Amino acid sequence: MLCNQVYCYCIYRFYYMIPYYSLKHISESFEPELSQTIQQATQSGWYLQGKQNELFERDFANYCGTSYCVGVGNGMDALSLIFIAYQAMGVMQAGDEVIVPANTCIATIIGVIRANMKPVFCEPTLETCNIAPTRIEALITARTKAILPVHLYGRCADMEQIVEIAKKHKLKVIEDCAQAHGATYKGKRVGSWGDAAGFSFYPSKNLGALGDGGGVTTNDEKLAHLVRVLANYGSSAKYVHDYVGINSRLDEMQAAVLSVKLKRLDSDNERRRQVAHRYYEGISNPLIHLLPPSHHEENVYHIFPIFTPQRERLQAHLTEAGIQTLIHYPIAPHRQKALSEYAALSLPITEQIHREELSLPMSPLLTSEDIEKVIDAVNRFV
Ligand SMILES: *Cc1c(COP(=O)(O)O)cnc(C)c1O
Repeated sequence: MLCNQVYCYCIYRFYYMIPYYSLKHISESFEPELSQTIQQATQSGWYLQGKQNELFERDFANYCGTSYCVGVGNGMDALSLIFIAYQAMGVMQAGDEVIVPANTCIATIIGVIRANMKPVFCEPTLETCNIAPTRIEALITARTKAILPVHLYGRCADMEQIVEIAKKHKLKVIEDCAQAHGATYKGKRVGSWGDAAGFSFYPSKNLGALGDGGGVTTNDEKLAHLVRVLANYGSSAKYVHDYVGINSRLDEMQAAVLSVKLKRLDSDNERRRQVAHRYYEGISNPLIHLLPPSHHEENVYHIFPIFTPQRERLQAHLTEAGIQTLIHYPIAPHRQKALSEYAALSLPITEQIHREELSLPMSPLLTSEDIEKVIDAVNRFV
């Protein structure tokens, strides 16, 4: 018997990994409501552009503090559609420039390119990993039409300064909120700071569907209408087409799932903040650097990044200790083959972040035991 227990313990020691983020467990934690909702959506016989979209759009717009939300197919399309809608309004033209942070999920930048706009890469600050407001003005040209801040890792970009610069130069501000559902800056939610915002409901985001999904929030009625039309092959009424649009719709099942999960978003984000708070209290290792927390914003910790020049060795050490980590991201966008025309840019801060970043497990479901195990392993790294 004892032998058996020791054996089990060894198996447990060797095979129990603290997952980076277990989607299976997240889904299970929404049962039985999740399955009931899916069953209702299935049995309704109506799968696109119906009541579930209407309800979710209303609730998510309310949540963000905007007049409108339009459900679309994914986060990248949400960003593209905003630019395509501005082009349809005559506010922007193909070839116009958009200032983007150089360190972001590449989807931000591809979303701009897919809308025939030109991304202009701006360095972040090392303190926030978000776009550096002080570096934006030097990049503005006669063709610049918008600034696209990304609230990376769940931390709101310096929106007050960004909005001020945009006003001064008559630029639009489009927020990429894919990692920051519910984050606030000076009490105001992301998605309501800019002229429009794109959200992703990719499964592992803070508010995630069971597949692809996205949304555009805005207070601009005309823009919201155009995004809706352009996401549905440019159709303003059935079989009437005013534009060559795309097909990017949020389906009814995903909208229903998102309505269920939206109800728990605030408490899940609060739990993420508690995990982060414990990481901040507990992690103390001269080899490892954490971002200084800010007083202005309420971070929703989509990702908890730590930094060390010895990132690969640290990741191996944590794997050995039974802790799964990820890197966000291993290759900077301008270093990707897809964006080779930007390869000559000198972006040392962006490259440093990409070289040193490692993401610790972060989930509302982490137990205190898991958190302490992570802290202990990080502190033991030599
Ligand atoms: C996930 C993500 C996107 C893309 O969202 P999809 O729904 O996968 O298209 C865009 N920008 C950022 C910052 C993201 O993290």
